[in-house]
Amino acid sequence: MLLKISTTYAPATDLGYLLHKHPARIQSFGLSFGQAHVFYPEACAEKCTAALLLDVDSVALVRRPHGRFAENFALAQYVSDRPYVASSFLSVAIARVFSSALSGKCKDRPQLTATAIPLKAELSILPCRGGEKLLRRLFEPLGYTVTAEQHKLDPCFPGCGQSRYFTVRLENTCRLSELLTHLYVLIPVLDDEKHYWVGEAEIKKLLKHGEDWLAEHPEQESIARRYLKHQRHLTNEALAQLREEDAQELNEATQAAEERVVEGQIGLNDIRLTMVTEMLKRSGAKRVLDLGCGEGKLLRKLLGEKQFEEIVGMDVSHRALKIAQERLHYDRLPEKEKKRIRLFQGSLGYRDKRLTGYDAAAVVEVMEHLDLPRLAAFERVVFEFACPQTVVLTTPNIEYNVKFENLQAGNFRHKDHRFEWTRDEFQAWAAGVAKRFGYAVVFHPIGPEVEDVGSPTQMAVFNRKN
Ligand code: SAH
Repeated sequence: MLLKISTTYAPATDLGYLLHKHPARIQSFGLSFGQAHVFYPEACAEKCTAALLLDVDSVALVRRPHGRFAENFALAQYVSDRPYVASSFLSVAIARVFSSALSGKCKDRPQLTATAIPLKAELSILPCRGGEKLLRRLFEPLGYTVTAEQHKLDPCFPGCGQSRYFTVRLENTCRLSELLTHLYVLIPVLDDEKHYWVGEAEIKKLLKHGEDWLAEHPEQESIARRYLKHQRHLTNEALAQLREEDAQELNEATQAAEERVVEGQIGLNDIRLTMVTEMLKRSGAKRVLDLGCGEGKLLRKLLGEKQFEEIVGMDVSHRALKIAQERLHYDRLPEKEKKRIRLFQGSLGYRDKRLTGYDAAAVVEVMEHLDLPRLAAFERVVFEFACPQTVVLTTPNIEYNVKFENLQAGNFRHKDHRFEWTRDEFQAWAAGVAKRFGYAVVFHPIGPEVEDVGSPTQMAVFNRKN
């Protein structure tokens, strides 16, 4: 199985820097299922081609414990196509051999990783379940010019018909990391098969590698379904997360601006985060969660408090997490500090084992971003499954909105808010949650209190009874 990647971007040999593989050398890598070799059939200033040759060990494949391909039919071990075609083995090889290029890192040419350059990928044999039509529907929306040559089932017997195997050329002007990411995800999608067990971790991989393109891809459903091996619950979860993230990203620019403008007049954000930090400190918590941590403002405050030994930030948006990581200067933190803090992507709409066992959780200005019908799931995730000793939760008080001069009457503070509640509505909801899940709850106003309308933010502090 051969994958060739070429560029004509001058000097073309810079492809070697981007791939972290020197054009003059042949390099080989041992993988659990065979060997990968990287070499350059051509390398000059005008054009450079890198080749990844995958040599899948067909004997080892058959001997693998639970070898899937041996089970399919009696002769499978003799006639398996796996060693010869582009499949999930190739995706694994790309991730191993070109890991820096895949994640868009390049020490020597940082500028080049961010530059769209003319690129061509050639796959010697790509199995396409769904044929050329699907191949085009997957790659063309991403800007590729696709050339596909279908192979006959048996060239000696023309009557045998067409196979699902194609020789494929893909041309695009894009970043190398984009090309590799598209190949990484879409090869197994076209093959509609994976050589390894697919579980929840695969959703994360899909969302990570699909971060910049999947939410807008017209075939996102079939991509998620096939990538997750037709497991309906995994597919639904991936699509739900994609949609949430999409909505979040669409609104992100307006969100920050709008809310900051509206609430900025009174420096509300700072007051709120100081209050939340104070409540978490008072609870005596050592291990804390910030659920829906956004760009990490609260995390930064928590990191400044020695009391908190373990701090975890979770958000549904990869982009928000990336910004949080940058703002925390995570890469420059001393090792000891790095150990105190962890960020991960997740959704408050789904039970998540990673959230159990913490002393306290903050949920700051998050619940109003959830659709009302999903609030019940959110309640269970936080109060039944994660069930920390203390939960500090804030949300806007809609009664106060009339006091914001630059907020039009009847509008929420931000377009992505699905609801904003009065004090009565919030307190009734919180009292119900406390009762159902065995917590006691106390309410605190945040920000300047005004007669009749109360304070701009309302906070509930829940304490588990046993
Ligand atoms: N707590 C932060 C951010 C508030 S903005 C602060 O006070 O600054 C709301 C955040 O909730 C966004 O970052 C959004 O991505 C996140 N969010 C929305 N729906 C979510 C969900 N279902 N699960 C986890 N996070 C979610």
